[in-house]
Amino acid sequence: MKTSIIGYPRVGALRELKFATEKYFRNEISAEDLQSTAKEIRKTQWTTLKNSGLDFIPSNDFSFYDNVLDTAVLFNIIPQRYKDLGLSNLDTYFAMARGYQGESGDVKALAMKKWFNTNYHYMVPEIDSNTEISLTGTKPFDEYKEALDLGVQTKPVITGAFTLLKLLRYTDNSNAQNFADSIIDAYCQYFNKLDSLGVQWAQLDEPYLVHDLTDADIELFTKLYKGILQQEGNVKVILQTYFGDVRDIYNQLTDLDFDAIGLDFIEGRQTSSLVESNGFPKDKILFAGVVNGKNIWRNNYKKTLSALTQLKNSGINTVINTSCSLLHTPYTLKNETKLTQEYTKHFAFAKEKLSELAQLKELSELDSYESSPIFAHNSALFNERVNCVDKEVQKRVSEIKENDFTRLPEFAEREKIQKETFKLPLFPTTTIGSFPQTLDVKKNRTAFKKGEISEKQYVEFNKNKIAECVKLQEEIGLDVLVHGEYERNDMVEYFGEQLKGYLFTEKAWVQSYGTRCVKPPIIWGDVSRTKPMTVDWSVYAQSLTKKPMKGMLTGPVTILNWSFPREDISIKESTYQIALAIRDEVLDLEKNGIKIIQVDEAALREKLPLRKSDWYSEYLDWAIPAFRLVHSGTKPETQIHTHMCYSEFTDIIPAIDNMDADVITFEASRSDLLILDSLKENNFKTEVGPGVYDIHSPRVPSVAEIKSALDKMLTKIDKTKLWVNPDCGLKTRGTAETTASLKNLVEAAKELRNEN
Ligand code: GLN
Ligand code: ZN
Repeated sequence: MKTSIIGYPRVGALRELKFATEKYFRNEISAEDLQSTAKEIRKTQWTTLKNSGLDFIPSNDFSFYDNVLDTAVLFNIIPQRYKDLGLSNLDTYFAMARGYQGESGDVKALAMKKWFNTNYHYMVPEIDSNTEISLTGTKPFDEYKEALDLGVQTKPVITGAFTLLKLLRYTDNSNAQNFADSIIDAYCQYFNKLDSLGVQWAQLDEPYLVHDLTDADIELFTKLYKGILQQEGNVKVILQTYFGDVRDIYNQLTDLDFDAIGLDFIEGRQTSSLVESNGFPKDKILFAGVVNGKNIWRNNYKKTLSALTQLKNSGINTVINTSCSLLHTPYTLKNETKLTQEYTKHFAFAKEKLSELAQLKELSELDSYESSPIFAHNSALFNERVNCVDKEVQKRVSEIKENDFTRLPEFAEREKIQKETFKLPLFPTTTIGSFPQTLDVKKNRTAFKKGEISEKQYVEFNKNKIAECVKLQEEIGLDVLVHGEYERNDMVEYFGEQLKGYLFTEKAWVQSYGTRCVKPPIIWGDVSRTKPMTVDWSVYAQSLTKKPMKGMLTGPVTILNWSFPREDISIKESTYQIALAIRDEVLDLEKNGIKIIQVDEAALREKLPLRKSDWYSEYLDWAIPAFRLVHSGTKPETQIHTHMCYSEFTDIIPAIDNMDADVITFEASRSDLLILDSLKENNFKTEVGPGVYDIHSPRVPSVAEIKSALDKMLTKIDKTKLWVNPDCGLKTRGTAETTASLKNLVEAAKELRNEN
C-alpha cells in the first residue's frame, strides 16, 4: 500500500511565515524577501515529506493566507473593487484577505468563515454576473515546478469546483448554476496546463460533499464533474473528501470517472459501511483517511490495520491517507522540550504522523503484523496513561442535578433588576475583552516564563498596563470596561495552564486564520480548578474605576473545542468537568465584587455537526446546558455576558437564547446583518451587541460608518436591548488604530442616543 497526505502545515515550524508576513505588512521587508521565506518553507516541507518515504506529496497546499482564496484568485474570481486598487498581484490578494486602507483606496476585506468543523477560517470569495471565470493565476503550476526542481514529484491541490461554487458568496441574483459552464471550462484549462507540465496526479478537495446534500446539489456536482473529467490528458484525478462521510452521494461519486476517491474513515461515521455495502470500483484507488489529521494522539495501529486489511480483502486498491489536511495539527513534537516521554509517547503531530504512515505501510505489507515489535510497541500505548484519573472530579460530574442547569429568577425579571442596578445609558458601549498585545506585553510574559524577571515584576508590569487601559477606556468614554487581558497569551491556553488535567506545549501552533495561529492545550486527564484563576486581576482593575468592570472568562465549550480533546472519554464528559471549574470561578468573581462577568463561547459553533440532523442530539443538547451550568448559581443582579465569534448561528438562534445569558456580543460586521432578521423572527430575548466594526483588519471605521451599521441594527432590535461594541477582542490590533476606532464607536453611540 502506498501512503499520502492531503496537505501539510504551512506557516513554518517556528511560524516563519507569520513573522515574515507581518514584517511585510509593516513595510520592513520587500515582497521578494517574503517570497523567499515562503520558498524556504515549501522546500523544507517537500524535503521532509520526501525523506519520510511518503508516496503522494501535495503541492499548492502552501498559502499566504487561505487556499479557498487562492483557488478563487486562480480562476479570476476577484471583485472589481480590489482590482481597482491597481496594486501588485500579491497586494491585491492581501487586500482581499485583510482589507486595504492607503493611497490607492479604502476597501474592506472579504468575509471570513469557519472552515467546516475546524478552528481554521477561510475567506469567502465574492462573485457576481460580471465575473469572468477563467484560468488567470499560476500558483499551482509555479509551485509544482518549484518542487520538481528540488527533485520532488508532487500532486497539486486546489479546491474542487463544487465546494468552490457552494462556498462563494453571490452578491447579485446569480447562483451556482449560472457559473457551471464557465467553471467547467476553467478547470479543464487547469488540467490541460497540469498535463503540459507532466503532472501525474492532481487532488481536488471537495469537503462540501460531507454535508446533507439536496438533489440539486447532487445534480450540480455530477454536471460539473462530467464536464471537467471530459478533458483529455494524462493527469489522474483524486477527488478528496474529508470531515465526514459522503452518504448522500456515494454511488454517484463512485460512478464518475475519477481515478481515485479520498474518503474519511475517522470523522466519517458511515464511511466503512458505505464502502462495505455499496462496494468500491476495482478500477479506482481508495485513498483511505485512517490517520487522524486533526487530533494529536498516536494512531491505534490495531484498529487501523484491521480496517485496511478489510479493504484489502475486499479487493480494493487502497492508499493509506490522513483523514484531512495536517494543517490542523502542529508541526512536530521535536520542539517540545518540557513534556516528558511519559506524555509525548502518546502523541503524534504532523511530522510524527508521517512516521505513522510509514510504519502502517510497512506493517500492512507483513503477513502477520501482530508479531512485529512496532505493532507491540504501539498496542502497549493504549493500555495505560499516567495521571489521568481523578475520582473526585468524576463524582462531582455524576452528581450534577437537573436544576443545576437553570438560573433563577428568569430572564425578564433579571433584566429589570439589572437595569436598576447598573443604570447604563441607552446603547451601552463596551469592548470584547482584550486590548492590543503590544510588543512590551508579549516581552513581559516571555521574560517571566523564561524566569528572567520575578513574579512581582511581572505582575507589576501588567498592573500598570491595566491601569493605562482603564484610564484610556475612561477617556474614550466607554460604559462597561475591561482589564485588557494582558496576562493572557490566548483565551484557552491561559485557562488550560491553570487547570488540573491539562498539558500545554511550547511550539504546538495550529493555524487559525491568515498566518495567525493558536496553541491548543491538551486535555490529558480529568479536569478541575485548584485555585482562582482570574480574580486578582479583575478585582484590581475594578478598584481603579467606578464604572463596571467585566470579569472575563472562557466558556467550557470553547475551552473544550479549542483544546485537543481526549479520545478515551466523551467530549461531553470533559466539557462538564470544565464547566464545573468555570462555575467555581464565576462564583468567586461574584463574591469578590465583580458585577458583570463575560463568559466567552467564541467557538460554540465549532463542533456543531456538519449534518443538521445531528445538531441537537449529538451536540447542542449537552453543549448549551454546559454553559448554563457555569452561571446558574449567580445572583439576579449579576450580569452575565457571552461572546461568540462569527455570526453564523442564524440557524441555532433558539439554542443561543437558551444559553440564558443576559447579554451576547457577536461578530456581525464582516457578514450581512442577516442575522438580525432571525433574531427578530425568533423573539430573541437576550440583549445583543452585534459587532459594529471588523477587528480582523487594521482599518479605522468612521463615525458615519458605525452609525449607519447601528441604524440598520435598530430597525430589527429593540433599542433597550442594543449594545455597541467591536466584533471581537482587540489583541491583534495596534494601539493607535484601536484608540481611533473606539473613539468613533463611542461617538456613534452618542449620536444615536441623541436621536432616541
Ligand atoms: N475576550 C476575548 C478577547 O477579547 C475574546 C476573544 C475571541 O472571541 N476570540 O480577546
Ligand atoms: Zn470573538
